[in-house]
Amino acid sequence: MNIFDKADRLKKLPPYLFKEIDRKKAEVKARGIDIIDLGVGDPDLPTPPHIIEALIKAVANPENHRYPSYSGMGDFKEVVAHWYKDRFGVKLDPETEVVSLIGSKEGLAHFPLAFINPGDVALVPTPAYPVYHIGTLFAGGESFFMPLVSRNNFLPNLDAVPDEIASRARIMFINYPNNPTSAVAGLEFFSRVVEFAKNNSILVCHDAAYTEMAFDGFRPHSFLEAEGAKEVGVEFHSLSKTYNMTGWRIGFAVGNPKAMEGLGAVKSNIDSGVFQAVQMAGIEAVRGDQSCVREMVRVYTRRRDLMVKGLRDAGFEVESPKATFYLWVRVPEGHSSSGIATRLLEDAGLVVTPGNGFGEPGEGYFRIALTQKMERLAEAIDRIKAINL
Ligand SMILES: *Cc1c(COP(=O)(O)O)cnc(C)c1O
Repeated sequence: MNIFDKADRLKKLPPYLFKEIDRKKAEVKARGIDIIDLGVGDPDLPTPPHIIEALIKAVANPENHRYPSYSGMGDFKEVVAHWYKDRFGVKLDPETEVVSLIGSKEGLAHFPLAFINPGDVALVPTPAYPVYHIGTLFAGGESFFMPLVSRNNFLPNLDAVPDEIASRARIMFINYPNNPTSAVAGLEFFSRVVEFAKNNSILVCHDAAYTEMAFDGFRPHSFLEAEGAKEVGVEFHSLSKTYNMTGWRIGFAVGNPKAMEGLGAVKSNIDSGVFQAVQMAGIEAVRGDQSCVREMVRVYTRRRDLMVKGLRDAGFEVESPKATFYLWVRVPEGHSSSGIATRLLEDAGLVVTPGNGFGEPGEGYFRIALTQKMERLAEAIDRIKAINL
């Protein structure tokens, strides 16, 4: 055996499907072409100033330089519980039903370590944010993939999960508003998930990173609003997208106290919590003036409208999303996801994400992230119209 032979869990990682795009992107860039990157879901807008001020103040206080409490500062958890009551009408005990996270990705990735034994199954949507499957893999589990397709409004078909799989499943991941399809789910769907979870003793993990990024007055629900949801599930939130704080690494998990205890036990043995100054800034974000969130929504609404119209004028089929900063665009007849992504990159200098990179049922789509200014988006549309597909 070689010293640097990787562990099986790394060998089992799915092939990195964006490798080819990354390579071509570097190649096109090297040719001196001006690239407009619509690939990554990372807000281009800065963190609002009042949140930065709160960090600066907190970082100067030596009390915040020490190890934080593992499960999160009491004040941060109180603020989260308050926000849940206000925003969703859901009551949470800040002590036992809230855990702070070093970004929600961290929590989602670690969660299976608490509840999946080798050979156990997790129900994982596809196409999806890759962390649900990879967290399951790292815990020694197996993913059973639930396809998200347009004829089911990109909701998983629970009736299509075989009984034998349902009885082995320990966790189900869901994510609405959804990345990458930008689909939304109603309470009726969440109630069906609760019933399915109760019937099969499955712990539900709802990734709710985009609940505040919604348009035209639409207010996404929390999974925990569904009756009985807290008896079977948890929800993961992120400050990253709501407050343009992707680099800060702060999020939180809420819900069933036994699930929080499991997650907390994993985390307390791996990390030592979120830097307190960042939690203080998080408190300011969640409790402070929310006009920054309304402004963020206004910005993305304008960008969405510009891009949806431009793409439709150019002959593309795309829904105008009710939430998230993603467009899930149909690949035109006669092309594949990676084929169109390559054409857009080479002929128009546009980076988009091929849908199959998020899972096989994403074939036939590509994803656009609205993370560029209006002028750049308008330029992107001009370039798309100028190429002959
Ligand atoms: C961006 C994103 C996250 C991760 O957020 P962090 O809190 O920055 O780790 C989680 N889930 C989905 C679906 C996302 O798109």
